[in-house]
Amino acid sequence: MADIMMTSGESFEGYEIVEYLGVIDAQSAATSNVFKGFVAGATDVSDSESEKMTARMGQVIESTVSKLEKMALRRGANAIIGVSIDCAQFANYSIGTLVTGTAVKIRKRESVNNIISKELYVSNYYNRQIPRPVKIELVGEGDSVYLKSWFYNYNFEDIKAVRADVELTNLYEEKWLLKSQDFVFEKGNVSLIEAEQLACKIPAKDILLIKDAKIIISKYVTSNGIFPCNEMPINVNLSQHRLASLKEKRGIDAVAKYITDGMIWTCNCGYVNEAGAEECIICSRKQEEMKRTIKFNPDEMIAKMQEKEYVIELKDVLMEYIKNIDTQYRMELLEIMESGLQYEKSRGNMKQTVIEKVEKVFEGQ
Ligand SMILES: [Zn+2]
Repeated sequence: MADIMMTSGESFEGYEIVEYLGVIDAQSAATSNVFKGFVAGATDVSDSESEKMTARMGQVIESTVSKLEKMALRRGANAIIGVSIDCAQFANYSIGTLVTGTAVKIRKRESVNNIISKELYVSNYYNRQIPRPVKIELVGEGDSVYLKSWFYNYNFEDIKAVRADVELTNLYEEKWLLKSQDFVFEKGNVSLIEAEQLACKIPAKDILLIKDAKIIISKYVTSNGIFPCNEMPINVNLSQHRLASLKEKRGIDAVAKYITDGMIWTCNCGYVNEAGAEECIICSRKQEEMKRTIKFNPDEMIAKMQEKEYVIELKDVLMEYIKNIDTQYRMELLEIMESGLQYEKSRGNMKQTVIEKVEKVFEGQ
């Protein structure tokens, strides 16, 4: 007989029902002299008779249940829920059994619920062409926590290993410092290299609280030798949210918005180049290309807003520019205008407050 799980309840611990295959029932009847007294409602049934009766009843129920199982199997079920057993007595010293249930298909629940993970972009970098830590993922399985990490490999060097401290900060500004972690690469000569995952000594329950990750490199190994890294890392001046959107548009190694004052220009990789340099020294991005792809400069819009008096006019200015603004900021800006308009009715002029909020939206963009 194939394995069929049965319950009088509606579910099995650790399993989920994937298909209901209908109500099924099976009956059996048995005649025997041992039921004589039982059927007559006699109260003075002897012990041995009672034993015989119970044994016979058991047999009858067993065979009925086995019928039900066969029926369930024929329907493609591997379990029966809501099983109930009824016995009926008949006048001709026979006993009938009716077993009913619902045939279902069940499967073991995957343990996905026990895995928590959190992805973070690394919020520091170096102004040099060394393997750049770009992303980590903390994965908690039960009590164990693993650290996955990705490094950007300028020049496709054959990176073998990177030794670094990992600094994790949680929402309460508490820090975990994982000293001298060795990131090892099986395939170190592609642009985005993934380190073998490391065991990470932070409690699994804290994973979701982590809001920031920094990786401070002390040395690294390539097929050409061992290289120290003694300089101070530079902190990325963007929130995780903005950093993610920058990387989406500009590449996984991007850490800064392109800006120029005519004398120098900051590349998306964070390196500050001389005005004369057409290409970035670190990442080879072309200045012209970065200039061209910049669609929207909030400074001009904000300057125009400053010339106005009321929020309703600020909103008009916003609407002039709205098409050029990245969709992810549009809703936020419109909400700022709407609440500004509301407050202005009761609290007087809101121009400066609204402008400050608008500036905040574009801060560090
Ligand atoms: Zn660059």
